[in-house]
Amino acid sequence: MSNVEAEPVALVGGSTPGAAVVEVLEPRDVPLGGPRAMTVRRTLPQRSRSLIGAWCFADHYGPDDVSVSGGMDVAPHPHTGLQTASWLFSGEIEHRDSLGVHALVRPGELNLMTAGHGICHSEVSTPATTVLHGVQLWIALPDADRDAPRDFQHHVPEPVGLDGATARVFLGTLAGHTSPVRTSTPLLGAELVLDPGARLVLEVDPAFEHGVLVDLGGVELEGTALAGGALGCLGVGASRLRLDNPGDAPARVVLLGGEPFGERLVMWWNFVGRSHDEVARYREQWQEGSERFGRVEGYPGDRLPAPPLPGGRLRPRGNP
Ligand code: MN
Repeated sequence: MSNVEAEPVALVGGSTPGAAVVEVLEPRDVPLGGPRAMTVRRTLPQRSRSLIGAWCFADHYGPDDVSVSGGMDVAPHPHTGLQTASWLFSGEIEHRDSLGVHALVRPGELNLMTAGHGICHSEVSTPATTVLHGVQLWIALPDADRDAPRDFQHHVPEPVGLDGATARVFLGTLAGHTSPVRTSTPLLGAELVLDPGARLVLEVDPAFEHGVLVDLGGVELEGTALAGGALGCLGVGASRLRLDNPGDAPARVVLLGGEPFGERLVMWWNFVGRSHDEVARYREQWQEGSERFGRVEGYPGDRLPAPPLPGGRLRPRGNP
């Protein structure tokens, strides 16, 4: 996924230790641009909160009839200092990157690409896709790992039956099930499908902040109603997390968690860095075709040019 918003959003953390207050982040519609007209719902970053743990970006899309929306066609574009986590509910995306990985993203399968020092990739929904529906999430890498080499991990979690729900734990640990996928900071990522009328009480790590991104149906997080598309956030300090599905159809959510990310970030376009000058250099290097990002083989078209930097200096922000 490529971020087409050229204006930086202020990065503000929102954790309040011990408070079981749910902060509800509503999505905003963002067109992805490019040759097709696909629009995503973005819940992170926002002015009121940028991060849940190291999760720093959340795009949710579909269900889109690709004969109407045109599907996804994101030309080669760069990333630095982050990992992209792709998770689909429906459809299929062809991924190509400058590590040489050519992979399909399929429903229920995690593709985690590590940009580290620099990578570029393209993402195109396949001709067989009729309905495209999923999320793309970014994870900020901590200073110690943000210049690491490119990497790509793939994992298909087994569905786990819980009382009233089915879980797929793609990152971290939930309900005694642990994903083998490596992360640089303690993280949780899981898909949960709640039965109609179900109440689910999950044991969670009180050192984590959590987010519940609602896909299908509406749920209640600690009694706070979350409509489809919303991201409900809980600060650190909770050892249990209560989710209700008051509806008469299954509800589906993506549960995110992680230890508060203590570092200040500059996020602009598809780059995560630490200073204006660093991000400006990444941009220049992409425009110059620097080896920092390598090449994508097999994409039938041009790569995405970087937008102009906004006026003024990009400022690093972090958790207060
Ligand atoms: Mn991308």
